[in-house]
Amino acid sequence: MKNIPELLVPASDLNTLKYAVEYGADAIYIGGKNFNLRSLGQNFTISQIREAAEYVHQKNCKIYLAVNAVIFESEIKKLRDYLEEIKSIDIDGYIISDSGVLDMIKEINREAKVHISTQANVTNHAGVNFYAKNGASRVNIAREIKFEDLKKIISNSKAEIEVFVHGALCISYSGRCMLSKYMAGRDANKGKCAHSCRWNYFLMEESRPNLFYNIIQDDKGTHIYNSRDLCLLEKLQDLVDAGVSSLKIEGRMKTENYVSQVTWVYRSALDYIRKGEYTPERVSYLLEEVKKASHRDFTLGFMFLDDYRELEENDEVGYIKKYSFIGVMEKDMVRVKNQFRRGDTLEVLTPGCLPFEKKVEVLKVLRKGEFLDADVANPNDLVNIEGLEGLNEFSIIRVKQS
Ligand code: SF4
Repeated sequence: MKNIPELLVPASDLNTLKYAVEYGADAIYIGGKNFNLRSLGQNFTISQIREAAEYVHQKNCKIYLAVNAVIFESEIKKLRDYLEEIKSIDIDGYIISDSGVLDMIKEINREAKVHISTQANVTNHAGVNFYAKNGASRVNIAREIKFEDLKKIISNSKAEIEVFVHGALCISYSGRCMLSKYMAGRDANKGKCAHSCRWNYFLMEESRPNLFYNIIQDDKGTHIYNSRDLCLLEKLQDLVDAGVSSLKIEGRMKTENYVSQVTWVYRSALDYIRKGEYTPERVSYLLEEVKKASHRDFTLGFMFLDDYRELEENDEVGYIKKYSFIGVMEKDMVRVKNQFRRGDTLEVLTPGCLPFEKKVEVLKVLRKGEFLDADVANPNDLVNIEGLEGLNEFSIIRVKQS
């Protein structure tokens, strides 16, 4: 029987967390209202962290809390108060990047487990063992290392190794970037990145403020860096065989739709690996499935590429959206997120099942307590679609964009 790594999934709020659990996450990582690297997301209040921890533990899942922002001297007291306040919550691991925070967590709660964030840029086993000696139980290894080095790191490390397998990439070593702060006043190291590396840039002469000259990088414009998204489905078997402990999906700002789809794909992949059935056909199938969630062109990233130029060879500058998120189940009806019409063929994804299609023949919209026949369903409508009654409450409904 293969030793299957943990599937670690992000959640921006309680609702997304529940979807992540249902779609097969082994562990969820979240951020509080402060000190994490997605401060623009909804994030969790202290009572919500408690509620989230109780919920995931009932479902035999784990929960990790990100406290991985860069911390300035003026914030130390506030951080200590925050850590004291959450000490009584049963958190399975704190994700940190500042070694002082590691010490502080251990002072407050000796039993607490600490995981080192990618933001700490650990690129070798000596770094892993330094953190292990100082109390960390896991290190998320920098995305910039090669696979051959990862194998050596795993065999020489005294802590668990976690790797990112899916999601956005940065130009700078694991996010230590000042570009967004410089261009938009939004500090990526405080969780406020504006993705300035993907903006379109022009050349302007100082006395001609409205005259923009194109600098031609490619036919889509000029960027400082417009990275593809990481997707390691094709290399998942290698990562499992190498002994990685945890496979992490990026995206603490993502919707329940995105998180459900990506989690479903990676859960399916790991289940196939467990059974020794992860064939090339299944890899191709799951690659097509994961492309149904919004994404940029995919890359195997620094770990598996010989030529890094592929990283920014994108067909699109923005996100590729092949499918539109139609709705979620609410009291046996569909709560509409995006417009669709009678005659459309919807696709339904349900936890633990293969997706299936359903053509909308009869559509009824709830108006003032009555279901009325309709041709169009609009955002926020509550609708009944004949043939979709009794679906699992965590089903996700999508439609291919024309
Ligand atoms: S601006 Fe780009 S490179 Fe910098 S932190 Fe944001 S996403 Fe990463």
